Amino acid sequence: MKVLIVYAHPEPQSFNAALKNTAIDTLEKQGHEVQVSDLYDMQFDPVASRKDFNGKNDTTFFKYAKEQQFNYEQDTLNPVIKAEFDKLLWADFVILQFPLWWFSVPAILKGWFDKVLLFGGIYGGQYGRYDTARLAGKIGMISTTTGSPEGSYAPNGFSGDIHEQILFHINHGVLYFSGITPLEPFIAYQVSHDEQERQQYLKVFQQKLENIDNIKRINYPKLAQFDDNGQLK
Ligand SMILES: Cc1cc2nc3c(=O)[nH]c(=O)nc-3n(C[C@H](O)[C@H](O)[C@H](O)COP(=O)(O)OP(=O)(O)OC[C@H]3O[C@@H](n4cnc5c(N)ncnc54)[C@H](O)[C@@H]3O)c2cc1C
Repeated sequence: MKVLIVYAHPEPQSFNAALKNTAIDTLEKQGHEVQVSDLYDMQFDPVASRKDFNGKNDTTFFKYAKEQQFNYEQDTLNPVIKAEFDKLLWADFVILQFPLWWFSVPAILKGWFDKVLLFGGIYGGQYGRYDTARLAGKIGMISTTTGSPEGSYAPNGFSGDIHEQILFHINHGVLYFSGITPLEPFIAYQVSHDEQERQQYLKVFQQKLENIDNIKRINYPKLAQFDDNGQLK
C-alpha cells in the first residue's frame, strides 16, 4: 500500500513526532511505501493567496476555487501545491498526524486542506463530492493527541464527544467530502502526563498499523441517499 503521512507539529522531539516515526517504521516494516509531508519543516504556507497560482483566470475578482480549477486545468498551480496534490493521488492511505489545537487541526494543516484539496481537481467541476469525489476508494485516518483528559471527550464530558462533535468536521467534512473513507481515529489523550501511558499509546498505534484491514471504517451515507435539498430520503 502507498501511504502519505501529513504531519503537522513544529517540534521534532514532540510526542506527535514519535507517533509519526512509529507510523513510518511500522508501515515500512510491513512492506508499505511511505511518503511524509512534514508541513512545518517544509514551511508550508497556509495562507490562501494569488501566489498559489501562476496563471490568472480573473484578474479583477479573486475567487479562490475558480482559480484552483483554472490553474489545475492549465497546469499552472504553485509547484508546492501541485507536488502535494500529486502525493495525494499517489496514496492509497492518508494519515493526518497532528495535535488537537482549538478542537481542530493546527492552522498549517487547515491551510494544506484549503490549498491541496482542489476545487476542480478533487471535488466540483468534473468531480462530485463525498463518495463521488475524486479520492473515492482511498482510506484515511486521523491520528491526534490532546491536552485534556479522555473523559472530557466522552458525550457528557466538558470538551464534547470527540467522534461526533470534535473530529466530525475532519472525518466527514474533509476526508469523506474528498471521497476518502475515514478509519476510526487514533487518539492519544493528555499525552503530557504519564510516560508509561505514552509508551502504551505508541505500542497500540503500532499494533493498529500492523493490522490496517482490522481498523473499523466509518461508513457515512452515500450522496445518492440524499434528495435535491440535501436531506436523507
Ligand atoms: C494552540 C493550542 C491549542 C490547543 N487546543 C487544545 C484543544 O482544543 N484541546 C485539547 O485537548 N488540547 C489542546 N491543546 C493541547 C495540545 O493538544 C497538546 O499540547 C498536544 O496534543 C500534546 O502533544 P505534543 O506532541 O505537542 O506533546 P509534547 O508536549 O511534545 O510531548 C508530550 C511528552 O511526550 C514526550 N515524548 C516525546 N517523544 C516521546 C517518546 N518517543 N516516548 C515517550 N514520550 C515521548 C515529550 O518529551 C513530552 O514530555 C492545545 C495546545 C495549543 C498549543
